[in-house]
Amino acid sequence: MLPTLSTGGVSMLKIAGVSKSYGNTVACKDIDVIVNTGEFFTLLGPSGCGKTTLLRLIAGLISPDEGRLYLNEKDITDIPTERRRIGLVFQNYALFPHLNVHDNIAYGLKTAGLKHKDIDYKVQEYLDLVNLVGYGSRKIPELSGGEQQRVALARALIMAPEVLLLDEPLSNLDAMLKVKMRQELKSIQERLGITTIFVTHDQQEALTISDRIAVFNQGECLQVGTPNEIYQNPNSRFIAEFIGEMNWFERDQLPSGEENTHLKQLVALRPQDIRILRDPLGDGVIMSKNIVGTMIDYQVNYRGQILKVVALNRADRNEDHKPGERVKITLDLANAQYFESE
Ligand code: ADP
Repeated sequence: MLPTLSTGGVSMLKIAGVSKSYGNTVACKDIDVIVNTGEFFTLLGPSGCGKTTLLRLIAGLISPDEGRLYLNEKDITDIPTERRRIGLVFQNYALFPHLNVHDNIAYGLKTAGLKHKDIDYKVQEYLDLVNLVGYGSRKIPELSGGEQQRVALARALIMAPEVLLLDEPLSNLDAMLKVKMRQELKSIQERLGITTIFVTHDQQEALTISDRIAVFNQGECLQVGTPNEIYQNPNSRFIAEFIGEMNWFERDQLPSGEENTHLKQLVALRPQDIRILRDPLGDGVIMSKNIVGTMIDYQVNYRGQILKVVALNRADRNEDHKPGERVKITLDLANAQYFESE
């Protein structure tokens, strides 16, 4: 059984008007974000949008050109990294290859001058936390990617940081392991209640793991919200396209009988909000069908445009359409999002 772990863990981080440029490149532009105590908060966006720069600013590895950072109301902008009580896990884990697992995890405590006995006790606690009991004497090159990831996590957490920063920590793992580690990471985070900031470009990952997400593009933070808020109510075309799958219709392109009462030109609909019905006179043709367990993914050619449609894979097979079949399209416009065309 694990004793109570002594994490710092209960901090609120405020990023106020933070900007950072590299020459002519604005990596972060006037970012205002508050990360709540104990929250799993994700910075999400395509490569080059400024996520890592913001994480490095929070860690104190670089300084902002403008703006301030506060941890529990205290201005930390000018405090050096080693005094910020922030734990960092890098994409490549950055473990010390010449030290074994135990000594990697113990490193910070040794530097802080703790007694051997206390260090060993704590290392055991954290090996247990990350499911690596018995691995203490293993060498780093002998570990799998997932195991190295756990060592990096234990090494960061043992220092009882106030905030845990994770820079794309799952990106080097294969698909199955990624899902497993994602669940483990989340359960460790919940157990410790530690405020966590997680960087990823993978929207699926962000939607699954986060309490809230900040979506970035080109150095700007476009929207902050829970995964469902971002998915159901994207505040821009960019986010509507970037998060989840979306079908787009021009206003005058809607199937007959479907009226767009909004003034905006573009109608966006999720694959689950389009229905297909067998109809030899319909103006849709099934192009492909992919059964994914509980769901069936269809691609439907509708007047030259390829629509993504998803149906429940039910035993009565009413939804089972074959490639080449003609179908009628109906739209659930109550769930549509509307955007200006430019
Ligand atoms: P992300 O993590 O979202 O992929 P980054 O924060 O790494 O994005 O980069 C944001 C932008 O800043 C990119 O255009 C990148 O090329 C640029 N950039 C990042 N770090 C540096 C640096 N040390 N020197 C010059 N340009 C940089």
